[in-house]
Amino acid sequence: MTNASLAEPEVNPAARCPCCGSRGGTRFSTGLWKALGEEWGLSEEEYEYTDHQQSESCVGCGANLRSQALALAILRTAGHRGTLRQFARTVRGRLLRILEINEAGQLTRFFARRSRHQCRSYPELDMMHMVDVPTGYYDFVIHSDTLEHVPEPVKGLAECCRVLRTGGACCFTVPMIVGRLSRTRQGLPPSYHGTPGNPEEGNRVWTEYGADTWRQVLSAGFAECRIVAIRPPVAHAFIGIKGHGGPAETE
Ligand SMILES: [Zn+2]
Repeated sequence: MTNASLAEPEVNPAARCPCCGSRGGTRFSTGLWKALGEEWGLSEEEYEYTDHQQSESCVGCGANLRSQALALAILRTAGHRGTLRQFARTVRGRLLRILEINEAGQLTRFFARRSRHQCRSYPELDMMHMVDVPTGYYDFVIHSDTLEHVPEPVKGLAECCRVLRTGGACCFTVPMIVGRLSRTRQGLPPSYHGTPGNPEEGNRVWTEYGADTWRQVLSAGFAECRIVAIRPPVAHAFIGIKGHGGPAETE
């Protein structure tokens, strides 16, 4: 990509947006700050696809590619062939119990008017200790680019698993660098997402995710881990399926 192409938003024709159904394509205008690429030691290619994951958005609804990947994860899990907007309006979609932790990308509005949808945010809700959330209650737990900010992410995912019913799904995204393994930032200089120069503790990054992200899903007690992608390696979403917890799944 040349600097000239970064100067003006570039419009890409794309497949139908899984959120709103628009076929108008996407708009990209660089939004990732350079310091993050340096702190994480990203190559030019890694920086570029991470930038597209965060900053390339549907011209119809504004959902960026990571939100679109998350929508796809929900739709695939539910077995719905339409868009997230359509699914949320179906009887089945309206009856689902959904826990959204922090605002999950740009998907909140597609669920917001549904009585069984709850959106709760840190610090009111701490993913590692969801003490007032009942066990086995939800059909879906969704979060987007939150897990990297959780000091003990397997503990956080195990809590997501606990509050799901059997067969329920945790759908989530993390900024994943596909060509390397995950590493903890414990002991490294603090790195933050959010507004550069205005770090907040809740935005501190504890894990840089890589190709072994799936391991945390299984370590947390989920029976299966699935991955869906939009234009890999640009955007991925994970699906952890809660099993019955029988012996074969707990070994
Ligand atoms: Zn859209």
